Amino acid sequence: MTIVVLKLPDVKRKREERPRQCLYCEGETFQRWGQVNKPVKDLRVRNVKVYRYRCCRCKRTFRHYPEGNSRADQTERLRLFAVLLWTLGLSHRASSLILSGLQVWMSHMTIWRDVQEGAQKIKKRHQWKAVRILGLDGAHVFGWGEKQPVLVAVDLGTGDPLVVGYVNESDPQAVCRWLTPLVQRHGITVIVTDDLSSYKIVAEKLQLTHQVCQFHVRRWVGKALKELQETIPKPWLWVLEEIRQLLELLPPDGSKSLYALWKQLPGRRSTPPQSRSALEQLRDLLLRLCDHWQSYCTFQSEPEIPWTNNATERSIGKMKMRARTVRGYKSWQGMQAGLMLAASSLP
Ligand SMILES: [Zn+2]
Repeated sequence: MTIVVLKLPDVKRKREERPRQCLYCEGETFQRWGQVNKPVKDLRVRNVKVYRYRCCRCKRTFRHYPEGNSRADQTERLRLFAVLLWTLGLSHRASSLILSGLQVWMSHMTIWRDVQEGAQKIKKRHQWKAVRILGLDGAHVFGWGEKQPVLVAVDLGTGDPLVVGYVNESDPQAVCRWLTPLVQRHGITVIVTDDLSSYKIVAEKLQLTHQVCQFHVRRWVGKALKELQETIPKPWLWVLEEIRQLLELLPPDGSKSLYALWKQLPGRRSTPPQSRSALEQLRDLLLRLCDHWQSYCTFQSEPEIPWTNNATERSIGKMKMRARTVRGYKSWQGMQAGLMLAASSLP
């Protein structure tokens, strides 16, 4: 059995050390200016002692909160706990109900605000960080009563989502427009994607190193080979076996072998609109693999590049789990915030 320990922020009842600097000016000396007992909402603490200080320089007064507290009624610990309940899949109302069982009264609207704030914090944390390897994958999530196409970008260094875009992944122009500022801001040099042709165009246009997820490749090529196994003339079956071998070993010069195989096959005899014969389909498959081969093997030259896009798929899985409550969002911003928070590791 594995026990995962959740570390929530500490909440102190009082703060003995004096403030170092005035909230309003450069002042560094203060007089104590009274104290208040502030009732707080928290999992354990009910009251904290807050001292007021007066700045000797500008004469203004301010409250100096103990660790884990702020002007808000609820402590940092309770905020994070409520957000956590929500990211685990409870609705705002259900989160509020669970808290009431712990004798903490927090309205679903307050929880909704804390969730939005949590998402803002994550956005800020990600705004300028360096991301070298980016995983991209499209998904459909419920929003505004129907399924919406979104494009999820994951920092494959940490596994955290970087951005969720309202973009259709099959449209290379749209993906380029959306990705260009991200590439510049974060210094992205590598993308990991599935085998969709739009990503090849995007990688070439933005001069990014491209790794195609090998799980995807094996899935679709495996399926194509299985179909051809039944349809191509028996004397050519060995070609299928060769392709299987190449995909298994992924030799860097595999495209040469594929090209050599392609040359051995008879040329195209059917003319459109005649449908292609099985051998012609095999020829097209060889050509496509040959063309994409480079992007199958990138990971071999750089150890940090993963050979699958699993981390991105995991992120999307978490977002889909949340999508049921995200459905209620009225705007793209709200939905984006919810999806980001759902898949992020909390601070
Ligand atoms: Zn001051």
